[in-house]
Amino acid sequence: MKTKQQTIADDSAGRPALLLEWYDRHRRRLPWRPPPGEGADPYRVWLSEIMLQQTGVKTVGPYFEKFVTRWPDVEALGRASLDDVLRMWAGLGYYSRARNLHACAVAVLRDHGGAFPDTEQGLQSLPGIGPYTAAAIAAIAFGRRTMPIDGNIERVVSRLFAVEEPLPQAKPLIQQLATTLLGASRAGDAKSRAGDANSRAGDSAQALMDLGSSICTPKKPACALCPLNGDCASLARGDQETFPRKAPKKTGALRRGAAFVVTRGDELLVRTRPEKGLLGGMTEVPTSHWLDAQDDKTALKQAPSVRGIARWHRKAGVVTHVFTHFPLQLVVHTARAAARARAPKGMRWVPLSTLKDEALPNVMRKVIAHGLGE
Ligand code: SF4
Repeated sequence: MKTKQQTIADDSAGRPALLLEWYDRHRRRLPWRPPPGEGADPYRVWLSEIMLQQTGVKTVGPYFEKFVTRWPDVEALGRASLDDVLRMWAGLGYYSRARNLHACAVAVLRDHGGAFPDTEQGLQSLPGIGPYTAAAIAAIAFGRRTMPIDGNIERVVSRLFAVEEPLPQAKPLIQQLATTLLGASRAGDAKSRAGDANSRAGDSAQALMDLGSSICTPKKPACALCPLNGDCASLARGDQETFPRKAPKKTGALRRGAAFVVTRGDELLVRTRPEKGLLGGMTEVPTSHWLDAQDDKTALKQAPSVRGIARWHRKAGVVTHVFTHFPLQLVVHTARAAARARAPKGMRWVPLSTLKDEALPNVMRKVIAHGLGE
């Protein structure tokens, strides 16, 4: 027996065409999108998708422009140094993406002759490309009939079909329903494939992304402007905003610690974080461990030992930062080292004037600003 959602999907064969008509009129202009009718450059699609993984379109725009100006193709990026890529990435957050970005460009150059694989499977074999990004690149750059499911598309589809199952369990069903929204190729061939210049699979995916970000918004969706309002199940019921259904969220516990801003004249004491893990390979001032229940005294005991430091000065207030899995609160202690004091093992002095060239994550920018502030 067919489910209610399957029946709705079957009954709405006109949706893909309505969606594409709407996209042709209202598509967002984004730096990585080619003009209408032109094929997309896999390098630009891939770069934008990696940047957009945990960051919004507005923030990504200028970074994308900077990257393509400096490295106009995957070959140029594959030959760049990881340090340069990390420096250019600084401020975008989630630095493992930058490391994978570089590793991926190197792999495309070394293992694929400088051309991205054109299948989801081939793309997923590359560093930093998971199922969503592979589907997005396959559809947008190569016209594969696949639908990448991001938060926007999840919302539109769950509302359109009134999917009662909560996320994340509903993902396979949403994927199945979203696929029914893929448009046929311009030539009318529903089996559009890689190399088919007429394929509109990528446009269908981008149409849903745009619809989700501009019309089917989390709060107060503008249903009157929606091209699919003729047969939207949740609109008919009047409870659009309650979709997608979600299981209750678990947030990580607050972690606490201390950060140490040590100056020697006009130099600052820093170190490089381990390659693997959170903020891998980025620059930071020394800190204590970041632990759930840590008091200030215990954190201060982990201060670096540097000649000339008689006492630590605790700055008023705390620096807070929210990572994906936990919020962090750092107390900042400052001190002045003796003129010729050596940096402890694994640390180094950098002139304050060249700090901007260091790959400093946002949390460290905040700590340094707080520590050096009056
Ligand atoms: S009609 Fe409203 S709720 Fe339904 S898909 Fe369109 S914007 Fe979303």
